[in-house]
Amino acid sequence: MKPPLPLLSLVVPCYNEEEALPILYEELTALAFSLEGRYRLEFVFVDDGSSDGTLDTLAALLAQDSRVRYLSFSRNFGKEAALLAGLRASRGDYVGVLDADLQDPPSLIPEMLDAVASGQWDCAATKRSTRKGEPFVRSLFAHAFYRLMNRISDAHIVDGARDFRIMNRVMTDAVLSMPEYNRFSKGLFSWVGFRTRWFEYDNVPRSAGTTKWSFFKLVAYSFEGISAFSTFPLAIASAFGMLFCLAAFVMIAVVIVKTLIWGDPVAGYPSMMSVILFMGGIQLFTIGILGQYLAKTYLESKKRPPYVVREEKP
Ligand code: UDP
Ligand code: MG
Repeated sequence: MKPPLPLLSLVVPCYNEEEALPILYEELTALAFSLEGRYRLEFVFVDDGSSDGTLDTLAALLAQDSRVRYLSFSRNFGKEAALLAGLRASRGDYVGVLDADLQDPPSLIPEMLDAVASGQWDCAATKRSTRKGEPFVRSLFAHAFYRLMNRISDAHIVDGARDFRIMNRVMTDAVLSMPEYNRFSKGLFSWVGFRTRWFEYDNVPRSAGTTKWSFFKLVAYSFEGISAFSTFPLAIASAFGMLFCLAAFVMIAVVIVKTLIWGDPVAGYPSMMSVILFMGGIQLFTIGILGQYLAKTYLESKKRPPYVVREEKP
């Protein structure tokens, strides 16, 4: 008897993707066709509390295709939670992650799969070679974020890296073994290590529908990344503290000498106000940083589940 073919699980987080899903499904069927005889496939769709017809679309796909499985959340929990749920549900020897909007071209998958299946690599990851079609300011901030992140954290994150990747079972289990509530997948994928081969491709515009990320959401997400993988911001307060202690010593010396030589004609209200306001600002700023970490710790310590599943099929 022949051994069963290796199973490839493709995890797709979907939030209001009713327009994109049929196009994606077509591409995935074409992909499955090209891998026929070499791999079995399962598609794990995670409906992240969509308010449009995403769930109905998934149910329809399930009815016609036994390779389709889906989970549906009780509300929107965010892409990170959807990814986690999908990875947990996946049963494949190889596990792929891709977006529903075809910004992660499935046509790359055979090549990526070959790299991992060869045993030479544990993971085939992708990055965009350009950010073509993205607003200029967004690219600017994105580049700045990656530079900063790589400086201050111990997870190296490649600029332009996407979540689109294929991993073997060992690496998938390693990613799943990290129990944290505040998940920043790009960091988790990098933190676990393993041999990663990078594939590059041009930025592809969304196939249909609209992006779910506002600029503000992205900024919040970048802080998520930094606080999850670096404690450097916590050191900022100490650095400021030391700097100002030094400055204070110098100031004290200056004031004493000045008073001894010229007496004390009670002046310097403006300079005093400037110092008080400036110090107050710095203090609030650093307490704010402290608060952010405390908040994360608080959320972790509650051990809430990262998502709630309303329906799982089959
Ligand atoms: N997504 C999700 N939950 C969310 C936001 C997004 O599952 O709260 C999914 C979305 O359906 C898509 C992927 O995450 O498959 C990437 O989202 P999007 O294309 O909006 O982000 P962008 O490509 O613009 O960064
Ligand atoms: Mg997209």
